[in-house]
Amino acid sequence: MNIYNALERSQDAAIERLDAEAVNSAKVRRPLYEKRKKIFPKRAEGRFRRFKWIVMLITLGIYYLTPWIRWDRGAHAPDQAVLVDLAARRFYFFFIEIWPQEFFFVAGLLVMAGFGLFLVTSAIGRAWCGYACPQTVWVDLFLVVERAIEGDRNARMKLDAGPWTLDKLGKRVTKHGIWLAIAVATGGAWIFYFADAPKLLASFVTLQAAPVAYITVAVLTATTYVFGGLMREQVCTYMCPWPRIQAAMVDENSLVVTYNDWRGEPRSRHAKKAAAAGASVGDCVDCNACVAVCPMGIDIRDGQQLECITCALCIDACDAVMDKIGKERGLIAYATLSDYSANMALATDGGTRPIDPARIRAADGSFSDQVRHFDWRIILRLRTVFYFAIWMLAGLGLVFALVSRDRLGLNVIHDRNPQFVVESDGSIRNGYEVKLLNMIPEPRVITLSIEGLPHATMRISGQEGGDGRSFDIPVQPDKVTAVKVFVTLPKDFRAEAEQGFSLVAEDRPGGERGSYDARFNVPGGAR
Ligand code: SF4
Ligand code: SF4
Repeated sequence: MNIYNALERSQDAAIERLDAEAVNSAKVRRPLYEKRKKIFPKRAEGRFRRFKWIVMLITLGIYYLTPWIRWDRGAHAPDQAVLVDLAARRFYFFFIEIWPQEFFFVAGLLVMAGFGLFLVTSAIGRAWCGYACPQTVWVDLFLVVERAIEGDRNARMKLDAGPWTLDKLGKRVTKHGIWLAIAVATGGAWIFYFADAPKLLASFVTLQAAPVAYITVAVLTATTYVFGGLMREQVCTYMCPWPRIQAAMVDENSLVVTYNDWRGEPRSRHAKKAAAAGASVGDCVDCNACVAVCPMGIDIRDGQQLECITCALCIDACDAVMDKIGKERGLIAYATLSDYSANMALATDGGTRPIDPARIRAADGSFSDQVRHFDWRIILRLRTVFYFAIWMLAGLGLVFALVSRDRLGLNVIHDRNPQFVVESDGSIRNGYEVKLLNMIPEPRVITLSIEGLPHATMRISGQEGGDGRSFDIPVQPDKVTAVKVFVTLPKDFRAEAEQGFSLVAEDRPGGERGSYDARFNVPGGAR
């Protein structure tokens, strides 16, 4: 027996060669309206897959469980930790309560999310797509169900191609039933963010919830089932704008999942035989493991492609193969274009010759010193530092605004019609619509007073006690209290109106204070 044949056989025994072709081949683009070819991703094992499991558990856990977390805010506010209370126009997030006029916090968070995405993309490409995007996470979840019922890639392909039997029907009904249950749970979890979750669940199952709740669950059930179960990779390829946008954000120093053909080519299924015959061979044994695990149905060896969501499962698949054949991991790896280009230039003698892996290896078979390897410091560059600085500034600004914001608000609208009233004794009266915003979930007494206009007095419509310069007004917890205020200036002191005055709201025991610089209109020209 030829020694090379024996070696080939032992290598073949270790490596499973898969009959996998890239469904979405970058080399041979299929017509846009051609019928979809199904993808049956093989289960991957490895560090990136483990990381993806962890991310999936965390993200799904956060999504499904958050509405059930309780947070005690006292008797006058809901005890749901995260709640978008549309009816009361409040957003609760643990100890933070956002009023409508504080919506800039949400806008600030969106700005942070945007710059966070820019930062991550410029540093590590489409990490969002590959690990945390809801489409990726739910497709992963649906694939877990599919594999558990129909088996791994080969079994699923066989079942799909086979005739309809009772077994196939049973498996398909079970799979789609579980998918639908997940989809319903997904839609159901969403509505719990908008009302007290336990109460809404009780009213929902007894068919007493508002119609909008059922419509929302129905729409989200349909979209989750269709996008996660049926359309899968097509959502990323055809519907999502992010693959197009991200191309503008990556540069030659961004990390992207890369097939290092400078060490992989020429690929060969019979490497040792070819090497013995004096041919140049790379590390790729053309086993197609990377193609078989790809949820997008592409072959990363075709180069960077719009479809690649950088889930890194092909890295896991290829690393396992490299381990088996005793080569360094990283034939498929996160790499920057600049490193890749430098290594490619080395392997091709500056682009003048075909790839020759011998050029990137030393005599003992290890990589030559000229080969560039990934250096984490590449992440710290002007672009990423700039994004990080903006992200941090926005975050610090929000934190500062949060800790320094007032929980007592005062809005005043000066009456315009009439702008003033001249009383029978000649004194002049102005009216004001005053709104006191008690932004804490506790009742309190707010003292409303005037500062300035030393001879003016104030009266509150409907309140006992006649005229004065200061009134105590009880306000409801977490509510706006509106009062009508009349300020009167004796006729001999109308010149004081030039100075203006302030309406001041104070929580004297709590030390909070809000004021409004008001004007006082007098005959002879409204000020
Ligand atoms: S090519 Fe690799 S990283 Fe890209 S989608 Fe496929 S498996 Fe994921
Ligand atoms: S790149 Fe790796 S996993 Fe893909 S065919 Fe080559 S050896 Fe196999």
